[in-house]
Amino acid sequence: MEELKGLGVSPGVALGAAVCMEMAEDGVIRIPLEPGAVDAEVRRLYEAVETTREELAVTRGKARQAVGEELASVFDAHALLLTDRALLGRIERRIRDKKVNAEWAVHKTGEELGERFETIDAPHLRERFEDLRDVTRYLLRCLQGLDHHHDISEVEGEVVIIAHDLTPSQAVRLGRGRVVGFAVETGGPTSHTAIIARALDVPLVAGLPGVVSRVPQQTPVMVDGDLGVVVLDPSGERIAGYHSAVRRRGQRDSDRAATSALPCESRDGVKISLLANIELLEEIAQARRYGAEGVGLYRSEFLYIERTPELPDEDEHLAVYRRLLETMSPHPVIVRTLDLGGRKLAREVLHTEEDNPVLGLRGIRLTMARPEIFRVQLRGLFRAALHGPLSIMLPMVTTVAEIREFRTFAGEILDELRRDGTACCEDYRLGVMIEVPSAALTADSLVKEVDFVSIGTNDLIQYALAVDRNNEHVSYLYQPLHPSILRMIRFVLDAAGEAEVDVSLCGEMGSDAAAAALLVGMGLRSISLSPRMIPEVKTRIRQMNVAQMARVAAECLSRGSAEEVEELLTRASELESPVD
Ligand code: PEP
Ligand code: MG
Repeated sequence: MEELKGLGVSPGVALGAAVCMEMAEDGVIRIPLEPGAVDAEVRRLYEAVETTREELAVTRGKARQAVGEELASVFDAHALLLTDRALLGRIERRIRDKKVNAEWAVHKTGEELGERFETIDAPHLRERFEDLRDVTRYLLRCLQGLDHHHDISEVEGEVVIIAHDLTPSQAVRLGRGRVVGFAVETGGPTSHTAIIARALDVPLVAGLPGVVSRVPQQTPVMVDGDLGVVVLDPSGERIAGYHSAVRRRGQRDSDRAATSALPCESRDGVKISLLANIELLEEIAQARRYGAEGVGLYRSEFLYIERTPELPDEDEHLAVYRRLLETMSPHPVIVRTLDLGGRKLAREVLHTEEDNPVLGLRGIRLTMARPEIFRVQLRGLFRAALHGPLSIMLPMVTTVAEIREFRTFAGEILDELRRDGTACCEDYRLGVMIEVPSAALTADSLVKEVDFVSIGTNDLIQYALAVDRNNEHVSYLYQPLHPSILRMIRFVLDAAGEAEVDVSLCGEMGSDAAAAALLVGMGLRSISLSPRMIPEVKTRIRQMNVAQMARVAAECLSRGSAEEVEELLTRASELESPVD
């Protein structure tokens, strides 16, 4: 037995057989094949080659019509590579020798050849390298779209995934299968992978450097997301502890659900609205179970993340938003426009390569830069608005101009819908996320342009404290209670109050009962949070006295460090008079 200490970022305890994943940045996973499956896999490769060739011929034909023969001939190089025996033979050999899935063989072959190209000092070969990269991308796309593609569901039994890193889309795919736990080398508590693991109720321990090389495949592993530990080869005693933890959790879950009937009101009669943050549609049931009073944040980019490498079409957008509006009715639903970019699918879907993507083309910047993608989402949204009152929220806003630009673009989309006679509703409420310090500190101007704002502390903390929210090395500095954060929140609450604009908070800070109480003391009256966390936060609010907490909050705002604020909060909760 060996115990590894990490960071528990999704609660719960799981027990399963270790599967150490080799994963590429583009989401390709290595799947070991049984010897008998190798021939079929090679056939699958050639089937994909054939389909890719046919698709390329169609694309070439279209390009020829649009831009002429000369420019369309760039596709000839791609088509030629798809008949190249040396390249295809290399991929086939890898499948046969290493007994791996075709995707992995294509990816590794592309990577290996790319490394060779890099060592050759001949600029004219650069183009050839880019052709090769395009072709491996086409092939991968095609293999992933084939009906009989491989995925982790082929791995037998209850599985704990051990990986260097997991992207949110990998976490969605794995978490819906037979995976019971995750242990990863990187990551922090507000990473989107952690948010997904919590949404799917899969325990996750992050920040375990070197774990992939330390755990032999199939080792029994216990992942304890509450304590932040991973136990390799757990003793009989630890396994017994695991079974009683599972029983306790079941009991706690039904106790928590019972709180949904209780009003969310403080002891001195202040009513607080608790809404749900939703990434995956299965969370709607949880939102209802735990008594959410609406959806305060639907992270619509997960629609894209789940569909990758395809993009969702207008009807898919419509169906999802309609379902949200209808199932949550009569409560409000806020759909955040796609917040891709940053670490979320920038490369896979948008083919962007940025040195510093988190400070690059993400959120509203990306949507305005890619109107052809944004248009599809907005058409779906305005059509869905026929089925309930819709609120649209823009992510990563930093300037007033972005809001105005959006309104103009939305107006054009509505004109277009009107012109083509598509039924839609033109009424919507518009809001912005306050998740960048520049937005927080100009909230007094932003609120004049919108109907509501929502404070996104996950990014606000990242950008204000210069701490990558996915980086385990600096996670000790990721401090929601840092006075700079509290002061910015204070400014936003005041600006919204003055303009009589609704204000909510949808970062993970609102899921922490102590922080939520402080925020309520500061004057916040609406919090959107992971549905599973609603019972804890509601229980805390029902115990608190808001007037008393307002005094503590004022003191917190004058402190110089997160530690001092924390100390004040602990003292205040100890002094709180017991519940009547
Ligand atoms: C935030 O930044 O606080 C937020 C809610 O958005 P996301 O976590 O999706 O970046
Ligand atoms: Mg954000």
